[in-house]
Amino acid sequence: MSSKLICAGNWKMNHGPEVTNAFLKDFASAVSISERSNFALFLPALTLHQLSGNELLEGLNWGAQNIHWETSGAFTGENSAAVLKEMKATHVLVGHSERRLLFNETNEDTQKKMQTAAQVGLTPVICVGETLDERKAEKTLDVICEQLRIALKGWDFIHTFWVAYEPVWAIGTGEVARSEQVEEAHKALKTQLEQIFPGKSEKVPVLYGGSVKPENARELGAQPHVNGFLVGGASLKVESFVSIWRQGQEVD
Ligand code: PEP
Repeated sequence: MSSKLICAGNWKMNHGPEVTNAFLKDFASAVSISERSNFALFLPALTLHQLSGNELLEGLNWGAQNIHWETSGAFTGENSAAVLKEMKATHVLVGHSERRLLFNETNEDTQKKMQTAAQVGLTPVICVGETLDERKAEKTLDVICEQLRIALKGWDFIHTFWVAYEPVWAIGTGEVARSEQVEEAHKALKTQLEQIFPGKSEKVPVLYGGSVKPENARELGAQPHVNGFLVGGASLKVESFVSIWRQGQEVD
């Protein structure tokens, strides 16, 4: 795996076509083609077509924030993985905590979505994370390892995937996990990956997400088992998004 950190942006339900267009133009001038493979953007489904075939953004990884586990059919309002692939998307988020908490998605749903992503050739980004109650009850490592284990049931390692550790209590709250908490969780996830796929865990990037900003990216990026970031709020502006990546590369 490249030693460069990955910086992925999850815009959630933000930015219409006009702001998206301006962002993408500015991003294309701020980040060279050779740097772009270190970035990923997860836009709302309604503006994903602005990334599809966009020559300005050669090399960028991108995709949807969610897919259905079926690739077509009577599923009003859902995103098809097959259509995303046809649009030339590369990645897709699965199991984001907002999907789990607000839309009742289970670990089993996440596992089915993983299989569908692999089937069409998209790289899924499995999001795992504990709630504040689970952390207080000292269940963090059990919860996140179980989420990962279930999501990877039946997974064939010929397909690529990324993992994002996102403590629920740190998402959109401004409260960032301490670097030692992040490192502990990432190390446990890497150990879990190593148990499932012996000798291969180094190939799987594990990103941290939860109130990442330019001010804390350097310290978080310096943790040995942190391979990058999944950024919500601070990915909405080119300046902060790119600065997180640049700060994250700095080694003390
Ligand atoms: C997220 O939504 O994945 C996220 C990490 O959000 P924020 O950076 O705003 O906490």
